[in-house]
Amino acid sequence: STASPTAPLRILQEVFGYPAFRGQQQAIIEHVGQGGDALVLMPTGGGKSLCYQVPAIARHRAGRGVTVVVSPLIALMHDQVGALEEAGVHAAFLNSTLTLEDTQKIEREMMSGRLVLLYAAPERVTTPRFQAQLDSLHERGLLSLFAIDEAHCVSQWGHDFREDYLQLSLLHERYPSVPRIALTATADDLTRADIIERLALHEAQVFISSFDRPNIRYQIVEKDNARAQLLRFIQDEHEGDAGVVYCQSRKKVEETADWLKAEGIHALPYHAGLDADVRRRHQDKFLREESVVMVATIAFGMGIDKPDVRFVAHLDLPKNIESYYQETGRAGRDGLPADAWMTYGLADVVNQRRMIDDSPAGEEFKRNQLGKLDALLALAEAHDCRRVRLLNYFGEESSPCGNCDNCLLPPATWDATEAARKALSCIYRFHQQGGQRFGAVHLMDVLRGKPTDKVQQYRHQELSTFGIGADVSEAQWRAVLRQLIALGHLRTEGEYNTLELTPSARAVLRGEVTLLLRQPSDTPKRGKGVKST
Ligand code: ADP
Ligand code: ZN
Repeated sequence: STASPTAPLRILQEVFGYPAFRGQQQAIIEHVGQGGDALVLMPTGGGKSLCYQVPAIARHRAGRGVTVVVSPLIALMHDQVGALEEAGVHAAFLNSTLTLEDTQKIEREMMSGRLVLLYAAPERVTTPRFQAQLDSLHERGLLSLFAIDEAHCVSQWGHDFREDYLQLSLLHERYPSVPRIALTATADDLTRADIIERLALHEAQVFISSFDRPNIRYQIVEKDNARAQLLRFIQDEHEGDAGVVYCQSRKKVEETADWLKAEGIHALPYHAGLDADVRRRHQDKFLREESVVMVATIAFGMGIDKPDVRFVAHLDLPKNIESYYQETGRAGRDGLPADAWMTYGLADVVNQRRMIDDSPAGEEFKRNQLGKLDALLALAEAHDCRRVRLLNYFGEESSPCGNCDNCLLPPATWDATEAARKALSCIYRFHQQGGQRFGAVHLMDVLRGKPTDKVQQYRHQELSTFGIGADVSEAQWRAVLRQLIALGHLRTEGEYNTLELTPSARAVLRGEVTLLLRQPSDTPKRGKGVKST
């Protein structure tokens, strides 16, 4: 019933002014309110905050004292505490921006048990001083609940790993009777298992919300002059809209922003190499004005809450599906139609693989990263529903969405099994003939039977594979190579990206692997190598 002052629905309505819970909020709140541990996986914008704020208020009203919220984002703590105080909930944060006087005042409020929610960064929570304060609260029965926000920061597999999060397992060791709720918007199996392990949440009930963002339309197009494609996309579909364009490097951010500006788009650059002043100014403009296109590295986005971002565009491939999901998830938080648009080509596959191969990380980590990249490449190459694949990655079953490029305009497919065998056997012949390696452009010339200078120089017109792929277009060949690299049957090496077979290529050569590829949409253009694809 809503009669009791600790009833969740009553708190939702009276304190927050919302009529009803969303999705799994109520089940989560009841579970935590009764003292259970919980791991909450909910997409950005899904309403995670209420999942610990409502139980915090209910338990405080029941005389159980203070809820400690661990959060890595100072800006977010500030906003949340402001909103709570405005709603009449006694909340505060402790972080390095406070004066000694303010800190002491908040500590007094906490120690008296009057405070309902205390927000703190992980590095503070694990200090001996703070631990002593928690001990004292705990002894007096005034330590109510721990909420661990952005819980994926504890996982080394994720993109936001924070050393300090590892220490948080001590909350369980020291205060086993105090319930904990961990929350995150990152939810692949591996990260999930890692969070449970590292935060000792084995007893926790896991609440998984749907990660579907039905208002976002997913589109992934083959790269063919990315900038021009981007401009056309913005002009045709998002004239005057706010959007974010993600690029991999700072240099590309600046070049792209300049170029869009010259084309009449209100574009601003954002990356970690810009002055803090400039960054703040650009961010403010983006938040306040209606039609700013922010061209940015991934330094931009975390903690930015602008509901009416109408599109997120990727000029470069993100690191993995979680990154893609998080970055595209910044579009359409108001629930209105929005676009997630990406252009992707052979060079993206090569670059991302290279970055992982060249990184100083250990073998296991690299293997893991490669696995994650492969899943993203499969999404990019998919000829069926993007959303089905995306959700499937997060463990969700769904049916074709009707709101992605592949659903709206099903691409033609072709059986590339034979073409793949031809490409691999041609590379094999190169090795046999002179032990030499060649890049994609030369390989395609040989396959298509073009007597270029280089072909003649290496006498490749004499190979049995010369001209065996003349019936396959260059765009199709590029797709075949991209797919072979994506699947790990081919590898690129050195500064010229020469192609090399991997052990698994043998299975393809033997005809044990079937390749069904999407038919390239655009008519192929001549004279382009790996760089421009
Ligand atoms: P998350 O942390 O999961 O990204 P938030 O907790 O910031 O999401 O919530 C996103 C938005 O949805 C906020 O503006 C919040 O007030 C609103 N919201 C959450 N739950 C409800 C609800 N039950 N009814 C109405 N609005 C809600
Ligand atoms: Zn679809």
